Amino acid sequence: MKTVLLIDDEPVFREMLGELLEPHGWKLLEAGDGEEGLTMAARHKPDLVLCDLMMPRCNGFAVIRALRSDPALKQTRIIITTGSSYTTDRLHAFECGADEYLVKPVQLRDLLGAIERVTSGQLSPLSPAADGESVSAIQATLPPARVAQAAGADGNNFLRFWGVRGSIPTPGPATLFYGGNTSCVEVRADGEIIILDAGSGIRPLGLHLASEFKNTPLHLHLLISHTHWDHIQGFPFFLPAYNPVNRVNVHGYEGSRAGLESILSAQMESPYFPIGLKQMPGNIRIQEMKGFEFTIGKVGVRATFTNHPGICMGYRLNTSTGSIAFLPDNEPFQRLRSLPGHAEGDAEQSRAFARNQDQRLIDFVKDVDVLIIDAQYNDREYQKHVGWGHGCLDDVVALAVLAGVKRLFLFHHDPGHDDAEISRMVAWARQIVAEKKSPLRVEAAREGMEVFLKPERKTKG
Ligand SMILES: [Zn+2]
Ligand SMILES: [Zn+2]
Repeated sequence: MKTVLLIDDEPVFREMLGELLEPHGWKLLEAGDGEEGLTMAARHKPDLVLCDLMMPRCNGFAVIRALRSDPALKQTRIIITTGSSYTTDRLHAFECGADEYLVKPVQLRDLLGAIERVTSGQLSPLSPAADGESVSAIQATLPPARVAQAAGADGNNFLRFWGVRGSIPTPGPATLFYGGNTSCVEVRADGEIIILDAGSGIRPLGLHLASEFKNTPLHLHLLISHTHWDHIQGFPFFLPAYNPVNRVNVHGYEGSRAGLESILSAQMESPYFPIGLKQMPGNIRIQEMKGFEFTIGKVGVRATFTNHPGICMGYRLNTSTGSIAFLPDNEPFQRLRSLPGHAEGDAEQSRAFARNQDQRLIDFVKDVDVLIIDAQYNDREYQKHVGWGHGCLDDVVALAVLAGVKRLFLFHHDPGHDDAEISRMVAWARQIVAEKKSPLRVEAAREGMEVFLKPERKTKG
């Protein structure tokens, strides 16, 4: 009997695929994440693997590479089934060794057509027994990192913007007010210093930390959303990473082509930079995360994939006095799928899929105190940048209102936007909020701006 292994973290999608394939004589195996998928593929040697890309524990790109490097799985055909319609993701998947690429929602006709193409009717029956394996718990605990002077011990948690721009730094008189450095936000909460992204803004942050703490040992945590250059380019200039009394823990996820450490090292190879990552004396520890929930001291961290080419994460930090969601690069699905040429498969199903994906993000940022999110384009500009992986102001405001966000900070400002344009976008956003009669507060993230997380006032019960 021909066997198919379905690797997808959404049980509903596995069930749907199973229902499509079972009547066509396929024996089904299922895995709920990439790691489990690899284990099951090695054990059962399926004829066909249907694999998602954005999954916990091991992303789909890495799964394909691992499957392709196993000579015992030479006959196994791989079809990617993913929500990502980005061309770069499609190309990467083929480079890794995928045989076909289908964008969700997957139609039976397309699926059977793809299977026909990749197997060319040359299947040899294999029939090992499939035993169900449960998805292991996704939980990790990172060692606490306390710094005596770091804010938070007294509940005085806050964040500070050091880089708010997307794509490339844009210094100059036209960006003086909001700032020209790329993505970097400092969070001081519950005794921890947590840094979100290492764009060029991490350089002034490093100088500030060095002058504030002098030679007091710092234990810093850096969370990387993804490794596009505007999110990591400042790291080679991060002063605390050169002080041997410090410890710098870098957390992030494996990329579509390579692991986190090799990508961070690559930008410091000798043709680009005089000092290698391994030569930085600040005790740098790079930790590639597998699960989507972990803690840094008393701060709870949750991660989620965002809609952006390659592997890109959003983070939510839950502190003792409030929560922060950081989604620096994201393109809302519904807008993308509603435009001509971007609906995949059946139009109604495509819209339903997009609604579902956006709902996942709404749930992720539900009732958050501070949302920092990609709002790179205004509505008119977005029409010319559909499928570039970035957000449109109107959609971001709608998402924040729906999710019951308290304060929205527009982020990842377009390098072409001067201060006046960003202020116009804020005014427009506030107009939308007023029309919706929502209590949401909107501002544009600005270098140097501090936002305090106030403890909830306790009411007597
Ligand atoms: Zn970016
Ligand atoms: Zn990016």
